Amino acid sequence: MDAGISKSDAGGVEPLEVELDQFTDLFRGRKGPIKSALLNQKLLRGVGNIYADESLFRAGIRPRRRCASISRAQLGRLFLSVREVLTEAIALGGSSVSDYVDADGEEGFFQLQHRVYGREGEPCLVCKTPIKRIVIGGRSSHFCPKCQK
Ligand SMILES: [Zn+2]
Repeated sequence: MDAGISKSDAGGVEPLEVELDQFTDLFRGRKGPIKSALLNQKLLRGVGNIYADESLFRAGIRPRRRCASISRAQLGRLFLSVREVLTEAIALGGSSVSDYVDADGEEGFFQLQHRVYGREGEPCLVCKTPIKRIVIGGRSSHFCPKCQK
């Protein structure tokens, strides 16, 4: 995946450039799980597996939630969470969010501490509930069963 700077690609929008209304419209009414939609490069570009899990945790949304069941207010929180996570990742070392890919093809999260990703069975940093891992669309998904609804 390149830096995704070109706007002429027939792909998704840049998560750091998209407006709130455009962001919510991407997900409203979709049948699939929000996690899969976040990873769908035709909707948003550059949101990888780790970024998606961390953004959903910050927004308090379970990865398996159907997009259509998520309120506009919750999508607004997700919008802010995605921006926050990507901005932090860039600030911590990447000129683009997709710069750094490890041996498993997962993008690095730089020095930022993962709050849920890769922390299966470890206590949630907010409520101490053990973090759960499930597989959605073949991708590991990590979440706190208490903080995320
Ligand atoms: Zn929690």
